[in-house]
Amino acid sequence: MSLFAEVIVDVPTMQTDQPFTYIVPDELLDAIEVGMRVEVPFGEGNRHIQGFVTALSQTSTYEEKLKPIIRMLDLSPVLNQELLALADYMKETTYAFKITCLETMLPSVMKAEYQKKIILKDSSHPIKQYFSENGEMDWQEAEKLGLLNQLKKLRQEGIVELHYVVKKKNKVKKIRYVNSKVTQNNVEDIYQQIDKRALRQKQLVHLLKENTHQPTAFYTKQGVSSTVLKQGEKKGWLTFEEVEAYRDPHQGKVFKKTTALTLNEDQQHAVTSILTAEKKANSEVFLLEGITGSGKTEVYLQTISTVLAKGKTAIMLVPEIALTPQMVERFKSRLGDAVAVLHSGLSQGERYDEWRKIERGEAQVVVGARSAIFAPLENIGVIIVDEEHESSYKQDEAPRYHARDLAIWRGHYHHCPIVLGSATPSLESRARAQKNVYQLLLLRKRADPDANLPSIEIVDLKEEYERKNMSNFSELLQAKIAERLEKNEQSVLMLNRRGYSSFIMCRDCGYVLPCPNCDISLTLHMDTKTMRCHYCGHEERIPQHCPECGSKKIRYYGTGTQKVQEELQELFPAARILRMDVDTTRRKGAHEQILQKFAAQEADILLGTQMIAKGLDYPNITLVGVLNADTALNLPDFRSSERTFQLLTQVAGRAGRAKKAGEVVIQSFNPDHHAIVLAQRQDYETFYEQEMFLRHQSGYSPYYFTVKITCSHQEEQVAAKKMFQIAQVIKSGLSPQSIVLGPTPAAIARVKNRYQYQMVIKYKKEPALSQMLKQILNHSQKDQRKGVYVAIDNEPVNFI
Ligand code: ADP
Ligand code: ZN
Ligand code: ZN
Repeated sequence: MSLFAEVIVDVPTMQTDQPFTYIVPDELLDAIEVGMRVEVPFGEGNRHIQGFVTALSQTSTYEEKLKPIIRMLDLSPVLNQELLALADYMKETTYAFKITCLETMLPSVMKAEYQKKIILKDSSHPIKQYFSENGEMDWQEAEKLGLLNQLKKLRQEGIVELHYVVKKKNKVKKIRYVNSKVTQNNVEDIYQQIDKRALRQKQLVHLLKENTHQPTAFYTKQGVSSTVLKQGEKKGWLTFEEVEAYRDPHQGKVFKKTTALTLNEDQQHAVTSILTAEKKANSEVFLLEGITGSGKTEVYLQTISTVLAKGKTAIMLVPEIALTPQMVERFKSRLGDAVAVLHSGLSQGERYDEWRKIERGEAQVVVGARSAIFAPLENIGVIIVDEEHESSYKQDEAPRYHARDLAIWRGHYHHCPIVLGSATPSLESRARAQKNVYQLLLLRKRADPDANLPSIEIVDLKEEYERKNMSNFSELLQAKIAERLEKNEQSVLMLNRRGYSSFIMCRDCGYVLPCPNCDISLTLHMDTKTMRCHYCGHEERIPQHCPECGSKKIRYYGTGTQKVQEELQELFPAARILRMDVDTTRRKGAHEQILQKFAAQEADILLGTQMIAKGLDYPNITLVGVLNADTALNLPDFRSSERTFQLLTQVAGRAGRAKKAGEVVIQSFNPDHHAIVLAQRQDYETFYEQEMFLRHQSGYSPYYFTVKITCSHQEEQVAAKKMFQIAQVIKSGLSPQSIVLGPTPAAIARVKNRYQYQMVIKYKKEPALSQMLKQILNHSQKDQRKGVYVAIDNEPVNFI
């Protein structure tokens, strides 16, 4: 009997969603499973390429011509049935190739050029003869010896394991333990053997009498060196044991156990509603709308605790920048070792170890950023998306998926509730709740009965300028900061622009230094004395003369966090200031260090970009200042008001979260804008109504669906020509009710030396569109070989 495998292959610039059929060779008959990766011959030259097995069957229509699979690349499926199905859903809804979707779901170490090792878990098994002394075997070695089939079975029995190694970074970490052979019975004899002066040996025996199975560090810390330990081993007082350990990013940190708080009525109603759905295996979507500080996290924690107690698992998504040490601590403290944390602040080795904990079933809760939605958990009891309105849940490269959509898909698959939480829900989610597609759960007041919402004042920056106050700080804000310094309370200041100045300009000829690769000006960074492009990373020295006219009158315009820090220090020389932006948090762990310092009240003022708007929950913050509320308002994006409202509400919510009352000062050139006025009143309801009206008027989401298509090429004409061709095809296939914007050059017409043209399609019902988009995708392979990139973004969250 023969067996055939359908394989989705990975051939760059020749992608197709059509699987290719291969013969499974005899030696792999028992081994190949759906969801494994294999190496197969491909094309004229029989090039060896990788692919995923997506189906197995006993018949095939074109048996004669088929080639056999060369080898398997995994010992077990790397994607289970659920995730394979999820890839199909992703492909259908994001217009990406299936192979891109499959690869996106794997942790990065598995995607990279890897070396694989087989690890022996049971050192008494006869297979050990093939392993090295430390219990490892290279994959190639195992393959050469023809052991893979056997090893695959042993893996199922838990006797061996496969480990993916990237550049030595994630080698299996091992800790050496000391097992004691010293007992009450032999201790006196042992003492007799020891020379009187050998004090360390005596100490060792003493320690061994009381302790066994301690890591070697336990002894070295107490002064017993590794040499003394080795002597002990020789004399038979102890044996060493190597035990595999995870790299724990929180190692050494003690999480003080917390217990469930008594929920208030709103919280209790929320938890009960979610758990009732869970009990009925009902994959209902809940929108948990709760003002900042209303105790949403407590709702999550108690829901997850109950789900875990039933033997189920949970996924909790958090935006990357909200995944602060404080957030992690709250989960670890309540739920303990059941929690695995996945975010980009971890080293590759740490990430891989967290992922393995999940795969082995040792962690039942995954707390993580966007890609944690692919966590290979089984038996999921609840999926939570915190801050569901955050645009970082959408991936901005193919596959352009939204983690919220995938969360809902997985919830349906597992028949479990899905919870979308936010103080300022996206209009899309709120509109669905309005239509009862989602169930709305409201938390209307702050959970801590002593905490009140902060009072918010708006300062009109135009008036400040008229009064000749050219600084970045209004008189009101200066006075309030001074007050805080006096009272030893803390302030948080937000300026959503990093760097020093936003641009430099020649006073004589008006020349602004542009990026050579992008159509945007360079930003001055004083700390490195460079001009930098925030789009492509280009860097050059600050010019002394105008490159255009040679004048020396070069002036700095606009403000960034670096310049504000200087100004702040001049205004308040004694103030201790911390700055948090992309530039100060590049180093691993830097983010945490800044926050820890602030939490320990080793600083008075935390100044930062929107990074600081989320998650901070410190009782001593009583003032929040927004230096310029308009930065997001002027962007050419229909969501700019929504973003501004959300950001202001979030950052204002950092103040007055405990007993001390909080104040907020918002500085703006547009003090009458509805997003700013309603953020001042913390009035989501009215904002929702007004903004929905505007969206209705202008024909945008949630009233219309949108698709954005972008074409880019190094030559402007080529990009434009391709874009217009696509537009013509699409326009001819659309119904008259739909609206097409463009094609036009993108808001930043050139990025990384590529000219960008784009068009946007707005529609309510367009059954033929999906097919057209798929054709564009399929054709994009041919375009790419000519250097034209065509990108389809379904339901884009960013227009620029
Ligand atoms: P959110 O996530 O909605 O912004 P948090 O979950 O951070 O709110 O809660 C804000 C504060 O209120 C936290 O310090 C939390 O410990 C506290 N809190 C939450 N629920 C309760 C409760 N039921 N009783 C007392 N304090 C609570
Ligand atoms: Zn000049
Ligand atoms: Zn650039």
